[in-house]
Amino acid sequence: MRLGKKSGPGIIPLSKHGIHRDSLPHSARKVCEGLQQAGHSAYVVGGAVRDLLLGVTPKDFDVATDALPEQVHRLFRRSRLIGRRFKLVHVMFGSETIEVSTFRAGDSSNTDEHGRVLRDNVYGNREEDAVRRDFTINAMYYDPSNETILDFHDGLRDLRKKLVRIIGDPRARFREDPVRMLRAARFAAKLEFTIDPQTRAPIADMASLINNVPAARLFDEMLKLLLSGHAGPCVRELREAGLHHGLLPLLDVILEQPLGERFVMLALAETDQRVRDGKPVSPAFLFAALLWHEVLAAWKKEQAQGTKPVPALHLAMDAVIEMQTDKLAIPRRFTTIMKEIWVLQPRFEQRSVKRPFALLANERFRAAYDFLALRCASGECPAELADWWERFQHATPEERDVMLHPAEARERRPRRRRRSGGPAVAGGDASGEAGSKAPAAPADS
Ligand code: ATP
Ligand code: MG
Repeated sequence: MRLGKKSGPGIIPLSKHGIHRDSLPHSARKVCEGLQQAGHSAYVVGGAVRDLLLGVTPKDFDVATDALPEQVHRLFRRSRLIGRRFKLVHVMFGSETIEVSTFRAGDSSNTDEHGRVLRDNVYGNREEDAVRRDFTINAMYYDPSNETILDFHDGLRDLRKKLVRIIGDPRARFREDPVRMLRAARFAAKLEFTIDPQTRAPIADMASLINNVPAARLFDEMLKLLLSGHAGPCVRELREAGLHHGLLPLLDVILEQPLGERFVMLALAETDQRVRDGKPVSPAFLFAALLWHEVLAAWKKEQAQGTKPVPALHLAMDAVIEMQTDKLAIPRRFTTIMKEIWVLQPRFEQRSVKRPFALLANERFRAAYDFLALRCASGECPAELADWWERFQHATPEERDVMLHPAEARERRPRRRRRSGGPAVAGGDASGEAGSKAPAAPADS
């Protein structure tokens, strides 16, 4: 890595930054004190310092130290060493965990053919630790014992100017780790900052380097972005920077269709609201939404080739997930739920006597219904459909009886003669008239 020549860090006193040590949680203070009493240096670093300066409550607190991981581990009874390649220590205080990392140096001696750094596990000193960090605003070190901030790269100046500026030469730093381009977009959207023009300039050109990043790592960063509470602005930022191609290869196609864009943006806005309200969000739901219009297109294509609706839907789902997985490995625990949400969608059109009850009882009903509501809100399906299901869920048995579609009431008649012919299809949902306006077929057809 090219190091910017610096004479030393800016030392910012309390009077200039205003962060008292008691704005830190007890856990972070204890970790720093414990390390310092044992003769080490210790600082709160990264996102926590940045957020405190911005008056935002930090998500978590990271500590950087010159103590080696094993030394840190020995100092704190409730701690564990994690990571194989690069060791970190998690120190536990009740439900809080403080992540302690030993100062590291950037190491550009071991890269892939595109210049991406493969090894990031060389210990270093404080200056080296600061220079290997991504953005100036993420490279400030707060020492609770004297309440000063060490600012190695004019992070405070950039923070006041609301700038996301990479440390060092943008091209070199993005080549070393293309994920930083994604992080730039995330921080800009989340903090409502702008990406410094020099940092931004090479991004469009270098966007394809994202393709060389291991899919699992990309997924982790993408998840941080989508769950940041600012997913809508983040995706917009990614598009503007030309970065979405490599990430969600299907997203650009989707975003170019008016209905698809409405749907994705609605899903993101709803997720952001939930994150801000402190409610849990489901990454599977979100990915299901991001890829839905691609599934719809693939489904249509399969049916045009003569495949029946239900098998066609399964083929479409698998194809979309497989194509996506190359670039951004969505873990199986999520793809399973995504498929469950997708596969239930056609069943909302079946409002026959038994079918709505089977759907209501499905363990994925809630998520699938929320998904349907989004589809209706985006204009893909008539609003009447979501309204019907909203009412049906909360209706009394008598009201439900009235609500059921008359054409399907015939199904209520006992079908003794047919029973002998073989078992009915489970749940009465596999008949496959998904999306069609045709009356529902008998459950065992
Ligand atoms: P957030 O509040 O979203 O967690 P953060 O700044 O804490 O933001 P993390 O992903 O938790 O972000 O990373 C912690 C710190 O590690 C960053 O502030 C930055 O200094 C450093 N860092 C993380 N990822 C990279 C990277 N790819 N390249 C260089 N430095 C990084
Ligand atoms: Mg963090």
